[in-house]
Amino acid sequence: MFDSSVEVRLGDGNLALFWTDRWLDGKKISDIAPCLAAAVPKQHKTIRTVQEALTDNNWADDVEGALTSEVIMEYIHLWHRLLSVDLQLGVEDTVCWRWTSSGQYSTSSAYSAFFMGVTTFPLADHLWHSFAPMRCKFFIWLCLHRRLWTADRRLHRGLDTHVVCPLCGSHQEKIDHLLAECAYTRQIWRRMLDILQLGDVPLSSSVEDLWLRLRPRATRDKRSGLDSCFMLVSWMLWKERNARIFDHKLSNLDQTMHAIREVAREWQMAGVQKLRELWPLANIASPSFHVDQLSVNHNIL
Ligand SMILES: [Zn+2]
Repeated sequence: MFDSSVEVRLGDGNLALFWTDRWLDGKKISDIAPCLAAAVPKQHKTIRTVQEALTDNNWADDVEGALTSEVIMEYIHLWHRLLSVDLQLGVEDTVCWRWTSSGQYSTSSAYSAFFMGVTTFPLADHLWHSFAPMRCKFFIWLCLHRRLWTADRRLHRGLDTHVVCPLCGSHQEKIDHLLAECAYTRQIWRRMLDILQLGDVPLSSSVEDLWLRLRPRATRDKRSGLDSCFMLVSWMLWKERNARIFDHKLSNLDQTMHAIREVAREWQMAGVQKLRELWPLANIASPSFHVDQLSVNHNIL
């Protein structure tokens, strides 16, 4: 981390080490000429400053390894590149922190640097900031990252599997089909949106697409409740899928809707106020337990 966070702004070249510091346009020589740098013994790398190296091109004497064609090519390339380097006599080299514009170290910039390259997805805020038991949230997270063991993924990995969607029995099982495209799923959502008075089910080709299309249907103050509702319905559809595959138990639309309603009531009794504002089922002044205790207390999840 430190190695990649620090570079040297060149002055007279007395501080920067020629072979190991990031002094050439923020890069090390081993980044620019890895084969050439590998042909230099360690004892030269640890002491050779830029000023010493550039004086009479002393750096060329440090190369002692085998002169392969790669080494020679990199040698020539580096030679040309070093022609444009100007040392500023009387100006000290400066060690700079790369993650701030001032070059000064700060703890916050170091902390942020650990998260560079982290990928995110558009529904992350809605997933983590709305209410649902952590088990459900993690399920949705796996779903959005295509990490659930649906038939298509099992086939891709060469594992034994069923192939057809157990909810409708007519399409290959993929997570986007199960939770967005399936006729059974769409019937459930049709009933849910009727109850919530949020219009008809939008045509969607993926879970994210369905979620993003549903959110604007609710007023701003009820979107968090709709996020909870989305996670709940998706979770219950997944449970229905599992029951059909592993327990050979099949629930019809009425039974699944009843199960969704009961779990929603439990969530509301656990204090999921936003869901209660969207779909009032439980009339309770103060929650009797926390939402994350649901699976322990009621064995529903
Ligand atoms: Zn289906």
